[in-house]
Amino acid sequence: MTDEEDGPASGMKADLETITSLAKQRGFVFPSAEIYGGFASTYDYGPLGVEMRRNIRESWWRWMVQARDDVVGVEAAIITNPDVWRAAGHVDVFTDPLVDCLKCKARVRADHIEDGACPNCGATGQFTEERAFNLLLRTSVGPVEDEGATAYLRPETAQGMFVNFENVLNSTRRSLPFGIAQIGKSFRNEITTQQFIFRTREFEQMEMEFFCDAESALGWFEYWKQERMRWYQSIGVRREHLRFRDHGADERSHYSSATADVEAHYPWGWAELEGVAYRGDYDLTQHAEHSGKSLSYFDTEREEHIVPHVVEPAVGVDRVMLTLLMDAYDEDVVAGDKRVVMRLAPDIAPVAVGVLPLSRNEKLLPTTRRVHDVLRPHFRTWYDDAQSIGRRYRRQDEIGTPLCVTVDFDTIDDEAVTIRDRDTTEQIRVPISGVVDAVRDRLDELRPEVDEVTALPGRS
Ligand code: ATP
Repeated sequence: MTDEEDGPASGMKADLETITSLAKQRGFVFPSAEIYGGFASTYDYGPLGVEMRRNIRESWWRWMVQARDDVVGVEAAIITNPDVWRAAGHVDVFTDPLVDCLKCKARVRADHIEDGACPNCGATGQFTEERAFNLLLRTSVGPVEDEGATAYLRPETAQGMFVNFENVLNSTRRSLPFGIAQIGKSFRNEITTQQFIFRTREFEQMEMEFFCDAESALGWFEYWKQERMRWYQSIGVRREHLRFRDHGADERSHYSSATADVEAHYPWGWAELEGVAYRGDYDLTQHAEHSGKSLSYFDTEREEHIVPHVVEPAVGVDRVMLTLLMDAYDEDVVAGDKRVVMRLAPDIAPVAVGVLPLSRNEKLLPTTRRVHDVLRPHFRTWYDDAQSIGRRYRRQDEIGTPLCVTVDFDTIDDEAVTIRDRDTTEQIRVPISGVVDAVRDRLDELRPEVDEVTALPGRS
């Protein structure tokens, strides 16, 4: 796999407005507290949104933890001892460089200014001096609000893995290399937040810290880059809408000695979807120093204590969701009518199988309910009998449901149903007794192809 050239990706049919509006109409994403006028860059997820997010998390967890022998999980607290953030460097240096535009007064990130133009109003060269702005969100714990009570909402889940390194090591008796993964909410007081759910103040991360020795770290860094790209293939993001971008030394975080972004193509250009960072031994060393505990590992081959090095793939659930919605959106023409269709992968689509009676006719409903009961234990189903069958197919297409099973008047006599394919709109007839297998086979066929397994690295 090679990095792509610069330039727009082809085949993207939706702009951000279209996606934002569809997401609200269909119940994926709502502006938060909308009846109060909303709250800047804050969103709530609706009935289909939560299903899709669960599918994203589950797919990531299966890929990164359950399908492997060398990664285990934790769930750490969101608000923890503030010393964690002092040690990790977030209290002092977790900052974005900010400037104010003198023309429109917008506060923008200095590193987001291109060709000297304000990203808000387009005026060139009229900015205040750059200032550092700390992104940590503060709160206080306990009954007295003084300095001693200050705590922080975690800005990343990663530190939960570092502070539990020893506990995981002792409780699981692991040996290097191994990883610790976590999925959970993180919080940053972000300043630039225009792009829907791409950048929000509250977001959910999926991160994995992979501990290894210094000699094999760069090999693992390359390995995880490729593995992460394979995961994106598996959830159906088109390869031409993704690329790697290596960070230069001047843009890497304070702890990182090599970082590559997986970038996705958005309506406003290429931007970071995921970061894969080689963090060296920075975090464990910092925590050892600040806590006074030795966070080393006894290497039995070398017979010495070492501080493991770390490679970290880190991505946001929200950003994956936006990427998938943008990438899956399509418009085509069916029987002379324009239709909107979300070409979501079967494991990601909120609903895998729609179960529909041809009409609300009394004769059809008991059989349709019976077919639903047959399918429901095996797949994410949705029963729908409102409006005409044509409109119901369109609704399922628009939310990305790969298959619909329809009960019609013939079903009463022949105990067979129709399976309709979202992408081709082709229909096949199968007996109710075989519908579970037929649906399963078709969903299997629709699963995206994935590159071959990445070879495990050796020591360099
Ligand atoms: P950026 O440069 O976009 O601010 P970052 O480099 O600070 O991001 P990381 O600290 O590497 O981001 O976080 C890892 C991942 O977490 C990102 O690649 C992204 O998918 C997700 N993420 C980070 N910040 C946000 C946010 N404010 N909203 C949504 N997702 C986020």
